[in-house]
Amino acid sequence: MTDQEHKQRMIKRKEVMDAKIAKATEERGVLILLKGNGKGKSSSAFGTMLRSVGHGKKCAVIQFIKGRSETGEYKFFKDHPQVEWHVMGHGFTWETQDKEQDIKAAQQAWAVAEKLLQDDSYDMLVFDEMSYMFKYDYLDVAPVVAALQQRPKKQNVIITGRTMALPLQDIADTISVVQDERHAFRLGVKAQIGIEY
Ligand code: ATP
Ligand code: MG
Repeated sequence: MTDQEHKQRMIKRKEVMDAKIAKATEERGVLILLKGNGKGKSSSAFGTMLRSVGHGKKCAVIQFIKGRSETGEYKFFKDHPQVEWHVMGHGFTWETQDKEQDIKAAQQAWAVAEKLLQDDSYDMLVFDEMSYMFKYDYLDVAPVVAALQQRPKKQNVIITGRTMALPLQDIADTISVVQDERHAFRLGVKAQIGIEY
């Protein structure tokens, strides 16, 4: 391709891109779902939150499932003036092995989430591992959908979890699937600080 042909092609490309940008005029918060079996959902959610925090936005995180140890992101954000962080769950279902306790924890977490969804001082909410609450029937999805739809117009919400309830997918603006192609764990590498937690 000659330089001239390249330039012509890029002029065309720019016209197409500019037309697309001109069409996206709506200003409102979005619901982002990060799902799939691969590694990178929670870390992507917290990375996006970091982007918001950098712009001075107020954010809140609810972790619906507590990990085995304190995560690096929790240690980093817990005392940050713009971030409110709730660790609500007790662990994965196969760790707690106590359905009643899990349901109680899920309901407590949802009570906090519901309040945040009514508070327009929060620019971004991250509901980490929330999808498991629906998979195991710890929470009804209908009231969650209703609260998400009624939230403040500019509020962004990110929900992570391997599988997503279909009613959440119906109302989401952005859905990304993090696909598992390979994971070091299956090569025998132990979970490590700074990578897994
Ligand atoms: P991360 O927190 O690293 O972004 P994630 O949120 O996508 O990962 P989860 O499904 O929440 O992943 O799993 C939590 C933990 O399991 C993390 O420590 C992650 O590194 C690890 N993990 C994620 N995907 C896989 C996988 N396919 N095989 C083994 N371990 C995984
Ligand atoms: Mg995760």
